[in-house]
Amino acid sequence: MSRYKYCPQCAKPLELALHGEMQRIACPDRGCGFVLWDNPVPVVAAIVEHEGEIILARNAAWPPKMFALITGFLERNDPHPESGVLREVEEELGLKGKISEFIGFYPFERMNQIIIAYHVIAEGTVRLSEELIEWKKMPLEKIKPWPAGTGYAVRDLQIRRGFTPPAFDLSMLRKPRNWHEISERLLTAGQPSAEEFQSLKVIGVDVVINLAMPTSDHALADEDEVVARHGMRYHHIPVLFDAPTADDFERFCAAMAASRDSTVFVHCAANKRVSVFLFLWRVLTQGVPRDVAERDLLAVWTPDAVWPAFIAARLA
Ligand SMILES: [Zn+2]
Repeated sequence: MSRYKYCPQCAKPLELALHGEMQRIACPDRGCGFVLWDNPVPVVAAIVEHEGEIILARNAAWPPKMFALITGFLERNDPHPESGVLREVEEELGLKGKISEFIGFYPFERMNQIIIAYHVIAEGTVRLSEELIEWKKMPLEKIKPWPAGTGYAVRDLQIRRGFTPPAFDLSMLRKPRNWHEISERLLTAGQPSAEEFQSLKVIGVDVVINLAMPTSDHALADEDEVVARHGMRYHHIPVLFDAPTADDFERFCAAMAASRDSTVFVHCAANKRVSVFLFLWRVLTQGVPRDVAERDLLAVWTPDAVWPAFIAARLA
């Protein structure tokens, strides 16, 4: 939950407590009063235009094909985000820039950041800082936006300039844990984060079916709202991992029947419940040969404990 274990003011072990209507990590010593508010951090981002094309750069710590915008944290001395972003462009690319326009604010939930994005026109000769190891230039309309953080700023500027944005670059998509695609329109995984639900919307998911308990690992307390906010339909069928029932499976089959002709994403905590339910659903209702369905099941796990008996009872 947090990388902080001890109070930075008095060194007592931190605890969870209610502050400002949310559970937060705080010092139990009332006299000390430390609270880790964990507010999002503002980050400035620049879509840098140089000689008519956009500069994308690669950080030394990133995988080979991953290029992105110039970004950086605001400094205490930056009088305005505009000067902060121009400072970053100069530090990272060695270019003098001018603000062309403000593009927008973009939440980046995974990093707990709020991105403030600008279009910057820059001149000079590129000299990369030590953090960056590679750069390239592309026409704005040719950049494939990535479905996270600054990628949405690229897409918005393309639209503003009258271009039809290329499809999102899904190789940059963050997929939830234990991801397994049964078909193009039937996707499964363990519990996604709020940001990963946004990615699911981007790849065209219409319906989310959740078989996890509200108390399962990494469960989102407001998953129904997160899913609704992205315009996807939601079915929650909580299944006890050590006591799945015939009724649970009936309800699951009904939700699948109601989602025909949709792109469906089914998840639980670790994709174990889901892989068994989908194995049974495919064999019992879709006429999928048992060995074919079993391949997908075994790609996720080998059922143990109560599950082999649950499977045998449904197949009987
Ligand atoms: Zn303290």
